[in-house]
Amino acid sequence: MGGHPFYRFCRSALQDIRQQGRYRQFTPLARQADRYPVYEYGAVRPPEGRDVVVWSANDYLGMGVEPAVAEAAIAAIREHGAGAGGTRNIAGTSPLHAALEAELADLHGKEAGLLFVSGYVSNQASLQTILTSMPGWICFSDRQNHASMIAGIKGARGSSCVIFEHNDLADLEAKLAAAPRDVPKLVAFESVYSMDGDIADIGATCALARKYGAMTYLDEVHAVGLYGPQGGGVAERDGVADQVDIIEGTLAKGFGVHGGYVTGSAELIDYLRCAASGFIFTTSLPPSVVAAALASVRMVRKDAWRRERMFERVAAFRARLTAAGVPFMPTPSHIVPIPVGDADRCMDISRRLLSEYGLYATPINYPTVPRGTERLRLTPGPFHTDEMMDEMTAALVTLLGLSDQRKVEAA
Ligand code: PMP
Repeated sequence: MGGHPFYRFCRSALQDIRQQGRYRQFTPLARQADRYPVYEYGAVRPPEGRDVVVWSANDYLGMGVEPAVAEAAIAAIREHGAGAGGTRNIAGTSPLHAALEAELADLHGKEAGLLFVSGYVSNQASLQTILTSMPGWICFSDRQNHASMIAGIKGARGSSCVIFEHNDLADLEAKLAAAPRDVPKLVAFESVYSMDGDIADIGATCALARKYGAMTYLDEVHAVGLYGPQGGGVAERDGVADQVDIIEGTLAKGFGVHGGYVTGSAELIDYLRCAASGFIFTTSLPPSVVAAALASVRMVRKDAWRRERMFERVAAFRARLTAAGVPFMPTPSHIVPIPVGDADRCMDISRRLLSEYGLYATPINYPTVPRGTERLRLTPGPFHTDEMMDEMTAALVTLLGLSDQRKVEAA
C-alpha cells in the first residue's frame, strides 16, 4: 500500500492539475426545499450554515423541490421501500418504470422509451451498443458533444468516428459526402449545448443526415422540460421530433429528479433493452425516483407557465446585465455565460461571490471549455427574484472590475 508507482503518479498528476488551475473542489451546499434557490453553505441546517443563493443549478424549473414531486417519492418509499431490489431483468421492473417509459415515449412522439440510471449512462450505453451492432459504423459527432456521448462513441469497437465542427452543417455535409456510401452512419449531436448555450438546427441536421442515409441521435438533456409546448425539447418546439431517430434526455435537470432515458422506434428500444450492457447489468432506478420523475414529467408537460416564467426571468436578468454593462455571451437559450477568460481569475471571482456576497456561480474552466474562454455559467430560473438579480449584477460589476473601468473611462 502506498508504495505502488501508481500512487506516485497520482501525487504528481494532482500537482500538475493544481498548477494548471484545474483542481476540482467541492462546495458543500445543502438545498433548502422550501426556499429554492437558497442553499445552506457549509452545514446541512441553519444556524450552522450560511444562506447562499445558487445561480448554477441544473434543476432549471425547481421541480426537485416541488412538493407534489417530493410527495410522490415519499409515497413510493412507503409503498415499495427504498431500493429497486434488482436489475430491470431480475425483479427490478415495477409498473412505475413501465409507466414512466410510456410517458417519455409519448412526450417525444416515439414508439418506445427506455430508462437508464443516469443521462450519462443512457448516452454511453446506447451509443456504444448501436455503434458496435453492425460492422463499419461511422459516427459523425459534433465537436462539442458531451463526455458521455464521447465515452459511448470511443467505446464502440469496430466503428469509427468523424468529428464535425460545432453546429457547422457545411462541415457535416462535406464529411458525410466524403464517407463511403454503403456503411451504416449515425449523426450524434445535442440541441442546447450547456456551456455555450447555443442551439443546433435540428431540422437541417436531420435533413442532411437523411440525404446521406445516416440515422440521427439527439441529446436533449438541457432542453427537456424547458422547450416546446409540452417540454418535449427543442425538437418539439421546432416541430421536427419525428425526423430524429433517437432522442435522449435526463430526468435530472428540467424534470428535477434523477435518471436518463432514450426514446425511439419500438424495435430499436427493444434491441437496446436486450443488448446494452449499461442497461442490463445495473440495479434499476428506485421506485421513489421513478414515481417522482413520473409526477414531474406529467406536471411539466401541462404547466407551460413554468417554462414561461423561466424565460421571463432569464430575459429580466439579461436586461439587468445589459443596463449595468456586464458582458455576457448572447445565447438563444436559458443559459447565461459570463466570460472571464482566465482560469485563476474565474475561480477567484467564483470564490469571492461565495465568501463576500453569499452567491454561488460555478466557474467553468479547461478542459470543460477551451483555455482562454473560462466563464461563469449562470442559469436563472423561475425562483430568482428581482432582488436576487440586483445583488448578482452588482457583485459582478464589482468583481469583474467594471466600476473601476468606468471610472477610468470617465476620467
Ligand atoms: N448530456 C449532457 C449534454 C449533459 O450536460 C449531461 C450532464 N451534465 C448529461 C448528458 C448527463 O446527464 P445526467 O446528469 O443525467 O447523467
